[in-house]
Amino acid sequence: MISFVTKLKGLTCVNPLPLLTTLRSIHTSSVNRAFSFELTADQRSYQELATNFTKDHIIPNAAHYDRTGEYPLEIIEKAWEVGLVNTDIPEKYGGLGLQNLDSVLVGEALSFGCTGMSTAILANGLAEMPVIIAGNEEQKKKYLGRMTEEPLIAAYCVTEPGAGSDVAGIKTRAEKKGDSWVINGSKMWITNGGKANWYFLLARSDPTEKKASKAFTGFILDADSPGVTIGRKEWNMGQRCSDTRGITFEDVVVPSDNVLGEPGKGFLIAMGAFDRTRPAVASGALGLAARALDEATRYSMERKTMGVPIINHQAISFMLADMAIGIETSRLITYRAAWEIDQGRKNTYYASIAKAIASDVANKSASDAVQVFGGNGFNSDYPVEKLMRDAKIYQIYEGTSQIQRLIISRILAEEAKQKLA
Ligand SMILES: Cc1cc2nc3c(=O)[nH]c(=O)nc-3n(C[C@H](O)[C@H](O)[C@H](O)COP(=O)(O)OP(=O)(O)OC[C@H]3O[C@@H](n4cnc5c(N)ncnc54)[C@H](O)[C@@H]3O)c2cc1C
Repeated sequence: MISFVTKLKGLTCVNPLPLLTTLRSIHTSSVNRAFSFELTADQRSYQELATNFTKDHIIPNAAHYDRTGEYPLEIIEKAWEVGLVNTDIPEKYGGLGLQNLDSVLVGEALSFGCTGMSTAILANGLAEMPVIIAGNEEQKKKYLGRMTEEPLIAAYCVTEPGAGSDVAGIKTRAEKKGDSWVINGSKMWITNGGKANWYFLLARSDPTEKKASKAFTGFILDADSPGVTIGRKEWNMGQRCSDTRGITFEDVVVPSDNVLGEPGKGFLIAMGAFDRTRPAVASGALGLAARALDEATRYSMERKTMGVPIINHQAISFMLADMAIGIETSRLITYRAAWEIDQGRKNTYYASIAKAIASDVANKSASDAVQVFGGNGFNSDYPVEKLMRDAKIYQIYEGTSQIQRLIISRILAEEAKQKLA
C-alpha cells in the first residue's frame, strides 16, 4: 500500500518506509512551538484598542487635518491617554514596554485611519529608540520618563539639506569645549521638528576620522536650547498634518551628560535604531494598503457599469486580488521582522525587506484604488487620492527603497563571502 505521505507528495515510491522513518525522526527532533501565526490575547487587545481608536478618532478627522495641514495634537493627546503613543518605552521608565511586534500591530491599525497622524505618533518612537538602546539610567529616567508623564513630542534629527541616504556625509559639527559640546549645522525634513520637546541629534564630532562608526556622536538636545531655530512647516505631497521642518543649530551648548553612549558611537546608535523602527514604518505602509483595499472593495460592489457592479469585471476584481496578495505577503514579513528582534536576534535583513515591500505594496494599492474609483478617485471628496499622496513617502523616509535594497544586497554578499571563505 502506498502511504499517505507518499501520496501527498505525488511520489510513487516502491518502498515508502525509509521516507516515513526520516520524516518521523525529523518531526520528533524539531518540535517548534514558537512558529505560530496566532496572536496572543494581549496582542489582540492592543489591536482592538487601536482599531477602535482609529474608527472613533482618526478616520472622522483625517480629511480635516489633511486639508488644513494642522498638527493633530488633540488626537495625539487622546492616543497618549489610552497608551497608544510611546509604546516601546520600558516599564521601568513608566512606559508599557511593548514588544516590537505589539507596536507593529498598533501602528498598522492607526495607519489604516491616517498615516499623517500615525507618522506623527511613530516619529516619537524613532526619537526615543536611540535613548532606549544606548541611553544611561539618568538619560532614560529624564527623557523617556517625561514622555510617559505628559503627552510630549520628540524628533529624530539626522538628515540634512545636503545628505539623507548618505548619512556619513552629514556636516553638522559637535566640538568639545570644557564639559560641554557646541553644535553647529542644519537638519532637514525633521518629522515633529516644530513640536518636539527634545531631539535625538547626530553630529560629526571628529572632523578627520574616515570611519563613520567612529566619527559621529549622538546627543539628546532640549528643543528650547538657545541657538536652536525652527524653520517653516514644509507643505508636502502627503501626510500633510505631520509636522516636517528644517532646524538650524547655531552655537548650541549641550552638556556632556547628554551624550548618548560614548562619543564617536553616534552613527551606530542612529542606524541601530532602524532595526526596531523600520518594522513600524512598514506597518504604517501596510495599514495604508489595507485601507486602499477596503475602500476599493466597497466601492466596487456599489458602483455599476454595463449593468453590473464593477467588481464583476475581472479587470477590477483582479486588481483587488493583487492588492490582497501584496498586503498578506508584506504583512507576513513585517511581523517576521518585528518578531525576529523580539527574539533578541539581528533583524536588519528582514526589516529592510519589510520596509521595501510594504512601501511598494502601499503605493501600488493606493494607485490601483484610485483606478477602481475612476474619476471619483482623482477627487479629494473621496478618500483614495489622499492615500495615493500619503503612500509615496514610505518609499523615501527612514531609508529609501533603493537604500533598503542596498542593505539587503550587502547582507547577501556578506553571507556569500562567508560561505566561500
Ligand atoms: C516627509 C519627510 C519626513 C522625514 N522625516 C525625517 C526625520 O524625522 N528625521 C530625519 O532624520 N530624516 C527625515 N526625513 C529624511 C529622509 O529620511 C530622507 O529624505 C531620505 O533618507 C532620503 O534622503 P535624501 O532626501 O537626501 O535623498 P538622496 O539621498 O539625495 O537620494 C536621492 C535619490 O537617490 C537615491 N540614492 C541615493 N544614494 C543611493 C545609492 N547609494 N544607491 C542607489 N540609490 C541611491 C535615493 O534612493 C533617492 O532615490 C524625512 C523626509 C521626508 C520627506
